[in-house]
Amino acid sequence: MRRRATIALVIITVVALDAPRLSAQPLPRVRLIGTGGTISGGATGSLKADDLLHLIPELAQVAEVSVEDFSTIGSSRMTPELQSGLARRVNEIFASDPDLAGIVITHGTDSLEETAFLLDLLVPLGRPVVFAAAQRPPRMADSDGPRNLLNAVRIAASPQARNLGVLVTLNDEVHAALDVRKTHAIALDAFKSPWLGPIGYVDAGRLRIARRPARHLTLSPARVEPRVDLLTLVAGSDGHLVRASVVSGAQGLVVEVFGRGNVPPAVMDAVREAREKGVVVVFTTRTHGGRVEIGDDARKLGVIGGEDLEGLKARVLLVVALGQTRDLPTIQSYFLALSQ
Ligand code: ASP
Repeated sequence: MRRRATIALVIITVVALDAPRLSAQPLPRVRLIGTGGTISGGATGSLKADDLLHLIPELAQVAEVSVEDFSTIGSSRMTPELQSGLARRVNEIFASDPDLAGIVITHGTDSLEETAFLLDLLVPLGRPVVFAAAQRPPRMADSDGPRNLLNAVRIAASPQARNLGVLVTLNDEVHAALDVRKTHAIALDAFKSPWLGPIGYVDAGRLRIARRPARHLTLSPARVEPRVDLLTLVAGSDGHLVRASVVSGAQGLVVEVFGRGNVPPAVMDAVREAREKGVVVVFTTRTHGGRVEIGDDARKLGVIGGEDLEGLKARVLLVVALGQTRDLPTIQSYFLALSQ
């Protein structure tokens, strides 16, 4: 009897001590950067980051959110220069605010996977950077934007999300920037990481990390090289698109070739000409899964193997890499560092 009374006293003491301390804990601080896109209202009236904040009162229970607008554009208007400016801004914010928990960026879905991966390459591992987007604008009663943004702030506020690289969240899923892609024009579950799956979920408001990405690369080029094209081979490809890219001034070219690495002779002729003009050429597979193998012909020309990076990601890596170096073995080592 006496023992039971002692246990009850201990429990009451713990609860009494704990309650005021927990409620007095300051909320983590998160910065919200708006760039535009459907999550901000799309073409029919772009909301500023501050408007988004007021749209979702629950945010105030999760974090102390400060806001700024980087741009108010549809993401089909993103450019490598804007993307690298956004990366610079993120690095500046982290450097000037050591106690900030993390950063959320709202962005259109159209080029989200490119911007997120470019930032993944330019922002060192550490505090979370989380992209949120939406397939339906906030004016629709069943918009996915508020939920996705609330989840993004939860993730950015969580110490669990550190050192995972840049993250993307929609539909309660958390994806690594390197793996994620938009796979459907309108579906709410359009964002997938093919062959690998999401790295985690937000479940009942809590972040659950299921796996940690095994690969990450940080580069710090003085600039990025926007003149990098992406081409996909089709039955009948004869190399004229490779030549057109070179004539237009491309400095780099990513070619999505057939299957395991097959390239028709007419295309190889055009690739040889491109290499003779100093254009850096990367092959990836148009299957968007699996590793490409570079044949002897291509290797002798100095073609870089894109490993298992799909074309869009290989292009972003080349945009960043060419801002830093034109040394082929060095660029090849970047692709190897990110391959599975
Ligand atoms: N047009 C939009 C964009 O900015 C599409 C979206 O956000 O879902 O990418």
